Amino acid sequence: MTRLVIIVFLSLIWQQTFCWGFYAHKKINYQAVFLLPPAMLAFYKPKINFISEHAVDPDKRRYAVKEEGSRHYIDLDYYGPYPFDSLPRTWKEAVLKHSEEILQDHGILPWWLATMLYRLTEAFKEKNASRILKLSAEIGHYIADAHVPLHASSNHNGQLSGQKGIHGFWESRLPELLAEKEWDFFIGKAAYLKNPSGFMWSRILESAAAADTVLKIEKQLSFEFPSDQRFSFENRNGVLIRQYSSAYTLAYNKSLKGMVERRMRQSIYAVACFWYTAWVDAGQPDLLRLGNERFSEEDAKEFEVVNNAWRNKMAAFDTLKNKAYQHDED
Ligand SMILES: [Zn+2]
Repeated sequence: MTRLVIIVFLSLIWQQTFCWGFYAHKKINYQAVFLLPPAMLAFYKPKINFISEHAVDPDKRRYAVKEEGSRHYIDLDYYGPYPFDSLPRTWKEAVLKHSEEILQDHGILPWWLATMLYRLTEAFKEKNASRILKLSAEIGHYIADAHVPLHASSNHNGQLSGQKGIHGFWESRLPELLAEKEWDFFIGKAAYLKNPSGFMWSRILESAAAADTVLKIEKQLSFEFPSDQRFSFENRNGVLIRQYSSAYTLAYNKSLKGMVERRMRQSIYAVACFWYTAWVDAGQPDLLRLGNERFSEEDAKEFEVVNNAWRNKMAAFDTLKNKAYQHDED
C-alpha cells in the first residue's frame, strides 16, 4: 500500500513537470524544418538536431529563471467567458486595463510570442547565425504551447475538477504512444503571416475553447474505465512509474476525434510560418553567408545554467524516488 501511494505521488510530479512533453516539443521543431522554402532549408536542415534538442530549453529555464513560468500559458478564463473581450489583445492596453502584475500572474504567452518574433526578426537582420538558431528553437516551444488547450485554462492540470495528471495525459502520453506509429506529419509549406499576432490569438482562442472538451471527455471516459484499467505501471530506469494505460489512452484519443494530432500538426505549421515570416520581414538574408556561427560566451553560459537547473530538478526527483523506495523497504 505504501508503495502504491508513493508511486502515484511521483507519477503526478512527473506529469506536471513538462509542457507538451519533451518528446512532442522536439518532434514539432524537427518537423517544422521540412516546411521551409529551399533558401531556408539549406541553413536549417544541417542544424536540425540543434533546433530539435533546444526546443525544450524554455521548459528547463523555468527552474533557473523566475519570470520564465508565465511565458508558457495564459489563463484566459480568468478574464470572463469566451471570447474574453475584457482582455485587450495588445500588451499596452492589457496592462492599462488589468496591471502588469495581474497579467504576469495569469500568464503572458501571446505577448511573449510577439517579443520572440521581434527578436528572431532582428537576429535575421543582424545575420547572426547562432542567435537565429537559438531563437528559432525557443519560439517553436512557445508556439507549440499556445496550441495546447490546457495552456489557455486556469484548470491547467485538472486540479479544479479532480483530474490531476490530465495535462501530461493529453500532451505527453498521447503523442508518445501514437505520434510515431499512427500520426501523419506531411503538412505542406510554410506561409507568410501578414498578421502574426492575430494568427496567434486565433490559435490561443481555439485552445481556450477546446479546454472544456479536453476535460469533459476525460471525465466521461473515467466513469467507463475502473481505476485499475485506467492506469498501468511502467519500469523507467528501474523505477515503477504509474501512467495512463494504453487502452485508456487509445480510448481518450478516439473520443477526442484526433484533436491532439490536429493540434500537433497545426503547431508544426505555425512554427514554420513564424520562422518564415521573421526571415521575410528581415529582407530574406542569404542564410548560407552568415557570420557568428559560434555561440557567444553569454549563450554558452546560459545553456549551462539552464541545463544545470534542469539536472538539479531531476536529481531532486531522483532523491525523492530513492527516499520513496527506502521508505518502501522499511
Ligand atoms: Zn512550455
